This record gives sequence, C-alpha cells and structure tokens, in this order.
Amino acid sequence: MARYTGPSCRLCRREGEKLYLKGDRCYSDKCAMNKRATAPGQHGTGRKKLSNYGVQLREKQKVKRYYGLLENQFRNIYETAEKMTGITGENFLRLLELRLDNVVYRMGLASSRKEARQLVTHGHFTLNGRKADIPSMTLKVGDAIEVREKSLTSQKFKDVMEKAVTTPNWIESDLEKLEGKIIAKPSREDIDLPVEEHLIIELYSR
Ligand code: SF4
Repeated sequence: MARYTGPSCRLCRREGEKLYLKGDRCYSDKCAMNKRATAPGQHGTGRKKLSNYGVQLREKQKVKRYYGLLENQFRNIYETAEKMTGITGENFLRLLELRLDNVVYRMGLASSRKEARQLVTHGHFTLNGRKADIPSMTLKVGDAIEVREKSLTSQKFKDVMEKAVTTPNWIESDLEKLEGKIIAKPSREDIDLPVEEHLIIELYSR
C-alpha cells in the first residue's frame, strides 16, 4: 500500500502543530516545531485567515497525517464509518484507532505510528496466534497481539520492555511479555487527539 515518504516535520509545520510523527525526536529540542514553526515554503510566514472550507480541509489533513494515511485510504475508512450505526465522527475515529499499526503504537511497542507500520509490515507480530503483517487490519474486541517468538530477541523489543508506557484503557497490555489485548472499543473520550471530527464530516458531506 502506498504511503507518504516525504519529510515528516514538514507536515507538522504545515498544520501548525506537533503531530508526533518521529517518536522520541518529537519530545526533544531537535523538534522542528521548536526551531521553526512556520509553514513550509516561500510564503510560509504569511498565513492568511482560512475560509470555512480551509478550516475543514486543514482538520482533515491533520488527522490523515496523524495516522499516516493517504487520501484514498482515509476516505475509504470514512465511507465505512458512514455506513455504520451510531455517530459517524466517532465511528470514524474508532476505526482509525483500531487499525493494527495504531494499536501497536498505542501499546507502546513502537515510538510512532510510522515505526509501528514498519514493524508490522516486517512481520514482527501475531494476531490471535497468526502472523499479522497488514497495518490496515481493523481489530476488534478480544483480539490479542503478540510479538512473534523470533522477534523477541531483537534489541528494539528489549528496549521496549524497559520503558514505562501508559496504554489507553481499551487495551490491556503486558510489555514484559510483549503482548496485549483489545478489551473494549475505544470511546470518543479515550481518543486523546485534539481533533474536531465534525469538520471532516462537513468537508466530506459537501
Ligand atoms: Fe513533528 Fe516530531 Fe518533527 Fe517535531 S520532531 S516537527 S513533532 S514530526
């Protein structure tokens, strides 16, 4: 599946806020938003007031970039959410959160969603005992994720075992065993991103 391969920090500068796309670097002084928070490009310093459409578009781009998705993938998830019962915006965020790459990130097994996606495609995990290497898989309550036996000796996962990570309450995680389980669907309150999803709904409903 295609993915964005350009510079991550440029995306944060475009959105005017930290999107935490580069793991530990995002929490350090090296973060580009600490050094130069203007939009990229020649006219980056002269931001204009955005129209309603512009505000909706920026919110959509921001969420798309949080989860590291391209437009078609993002739009497909929205269309699935639209067909579900309940509130479309909440369904949409829930589907994004339940992607395998995001769950690996939320469990603390990767420092960013981008790294999680790479670890998944490299085949480091099992889902309910079977190899799972498709980052876009949507997980459900009861699904169990484990680091594969052959990956347990990798330095990456040894480092993870020593980290203190707070996982959301819809995931039960045991980092010493490098495993976790989805114990509930994430509620809107569980999704801690500063997102106004109604703006995305309004954009896609135009
Ligand atoms: Fe964004 Fe992280 Fe780059 Fe900072 S270091 S600009 S938060 S991707």
